[in-house]
Amino acid sequence: MPNQTTTRRIYFDHTAGKPIDSRVIEVMLPYMTSSYGNPSSIHAFSQEAKQTLEEAREKIAKLINAESKESIVFTSGATESNNMAIKGVAYRNKNRGNHIITSSIEHMSVINPCKFLTTQGFKATFLPVDQYGFVSLKKLEEELTSETTLISIMYASGEIGTIQPMKEISKIAHSKNAFLHVDATAANGQIPINVQNDGIDLLTISSNDMYGPKGVGALYIKKGIRIEPLIQGGGQEKGIRSGTENIPGIVGFGKAAEIAQKEMSVESKRLEKLRDKFIKGLLDQIPYSFLNGHPTKRLPDNVAVRFSFIEGESILLSLDMMGVAASSGSACTTKTLEPSHVLLAIGLKHEEAHGSVLFTLGRQNTKEEVDYVIDIMPDIIKRLRKISPLTPKELKE
Ligand code: PMP
Repeated sequence: MPNQTTTRRIYFDHTAGKPIDSRVIEVMLPYMTSSYGNPSSIHAFSQEAKQTLEEAREKIAKLINAESKESIVFTSGATESNNMAIKGVAYRNKNRGNHIITSSIEHMSVINPCKFLTTQGFKATFLPVDQYGFVSLKKLEEELTSETTLISIMYASGEIGTIQPMKEISKIAHSKNAFLHVDATAANGQIPINVQNDGIDLLTISSNDMYGPKGVGALYIKKGIRIEPLIQGGGQEKGIRSGTENIPGIVGFGKAAEIAQKEMSVESKRLEKLRDKFIKGLLDQIPYSFLNGHPTKRLPDNVAVRFSFIEGESILLSLDMMGVAASSGSACTTKTLEPSHVLLAIGLKHEEAHGSVLFTLGRQNTKEEVDYVIDIMPDIIKRLRKISPLTPKELKE
C-alpha cells in the first residue's frame, strides 16, 4: 500500500470485493469447525450437510424467483458460471446451430469463452452498444438467425452501471428459439431479478457480490434446458458440476441471499440517494468531468466518472494517499495498461477512457464519506491537471 497521509480508510471499491456480512460469517462458522460431513455420504453427518445444502439452494432460488431449487447449480463463482453457461449451451446444441451472440461490454469471463468457441467451429457476434452502454436491440434482431443457439447479455454493468432492458432482449432471443444467458453478477442483490418474469433461461450470480464469501456462485438453468458439463467427476450437482460441494461457502451464500432479499429495497434506495449526491457533487464542482453510463437506468452503487486531461491511475493514487479506495474500472483488467474495453465500446477515445474513476458504494458507506470525497476531489483534479501536458493553458491558471 502506498504511503498514506491519513489514518482515514474509506472503501469505495465494492464491485471488486465486498466485506462478508457478520451474519453470514456466523452461519458459516460451524461448517468450518464441528460440521464437516460430505453431503454425498450415507451417515448422519452427511444428512446434516445435505439438508444445509438444499436449504441454501432454496434461498438462492427464492431470491431470483426460480421455478424450483432444482434449477440452481452451485459453482466456484461468476467466472465458472459464465463459462459453464456459454460453453455448456454451445456444445450441447451444436447440432442445432453454431452461432452465439453477446455484447461488446461483457465481463471477460463472457467475452473470452465466446472468443474461445470461435476456435472450436462456432461463430460469435459481439453486439455494439450506444453511448450509455445499452445493447443495440436493432442489431440483435438483425444478427439473430435460426443458427443462433445462445444470446449472452449482462443484466447490468459493474463498470458503467447501465441496466439492460432484459425483457425486450428475452423476447427477441425467444423469437428465434435462442436461449438467453444473463450475467447478473453486478446486478444481483442490488435490483430485483425475476428470472421467470424477465424470461431468462440461464443466470449467473455470485456470492461475494451480495456480501457472502468469495469463491462460490451459482448458475440458474431453467427447467428442461440441458447443458454439456464442463467438469466431469463424481456426479454432484446432478452431474452438471462434479466435485464435493463447498458447504461453508454455500451456507454463507444462502444467508447472503436471504439478507439481500429482505434488505434490498431499503438499502438500494439509500445507495441511490448517496450515488446521485456523489455524482452531482463531483460533476457540479469539477469542470470537464462527465458521467460514464446512463444517469438513471444505473445500478444503485455505481458512480463512474471521468475527468479530461488526466489519468485515472494518478487520481487513484492521490485518493489512496487520502485514505480512499476506488478503482479505474473492472478490477480484473486493471493489471493491463490498456483502457477498458467497456469504455471504448461506449465510444470513448483512449485518453477519455484513461481518465475514468469508478467508485462503487456499499452497505457500510455513509453520507459523511461521500461528502469527504466530494470535498477533496476538486483539489486533487486541479493539482493533477496542473502537471499534465494535456491540460489547456487556461485550466492551469
Ligand atoms: N461478471 C461480472 C459482471 C463481474 O462484475 C465479475 C467480477 N465481479 C465477474 C463476472 C467475475 O466474477 P469472479 O471473478 O468472482 O468470478
